[in-house]
Amino acid sequence: MKNRVHPPFEYILFDLDETLYPRASGLMGAISERILLYMVHKVGIPADDAPEVKRSYHQHHGTTLRGLMDEYHIDPLDYLTFVHDLNPRDFFGASPPLDEMLHDIPLRKVIFTNADRSHSERVLGALQIRPHFEQIIDIATMKYINKPDPLAYQQALTLLNVPGECCIMVDDLARNLIPAKDAGMTTILVEGTGPSLAIDYVVPTVFHVGPLLKKLLLKHRP
Ligand SMILES: [Mg+2]
Repeated sequence: MKNRVHPPFEYILFDLDETLYPRASGLMGAISERILLYMVHKVGIPADDAPEVKRSYHQHHGTTLRGLMDEYHIDPLDYLTFVHDLNPRDFFGASPPLDEMLHDIPLRKVIFTNADRSHSERVLGALQIRPHFEQIIDIATMKYINKPDPLAYQQALTLLNVPGECCIMVDDLARNLIPAKDAGMTTILVEGTGPSLAIDYVVPTVFHVGPLLKKLLLKHRP
């Protein structure tokens, strides 16, 4: 078999929540509680049914937001403002090791998230890593088409104006990486759960991404 020449990597796309900060911080848990509050108090779903409806939306629509938009035609801005009405600084602080690791990664860095821009800015601000990211591709940028819908990845690639092969994607959900791999990206699962057979690399924490990339970039040096 002939060795194919791999195009040089140009971008690294990071998911935000529970990828750049650990699940154990509890921020997503608090967001989940606010999602349930929204479903019960704003949409009128019975409290006893809400957790199951949320699980089902997550499974079948990718996010609770998408499920609520499809089934109840809710206003996404109202939802996103309500569920993210939390201060990430109550959950974690600055991360100098993450700052240093991002500084050493010689690729253009982008946030690719199902959350909204304000929440992303607050999380990046709390971690004190905002300057590393040249853009935030948030749920509004994706016109509310969320990961893992393959269209979300196509929109991101169109925006970045590169083929998938030039991108590395980092996410804590295996299901969000499968369409990325289908689009040609190299995939890294962080602190991941779920099936990872289709994933290129699995690392225990985001801090392992830097050392892995050093090896990977050496291998694919143009
Ligand atoms: Mg995540």
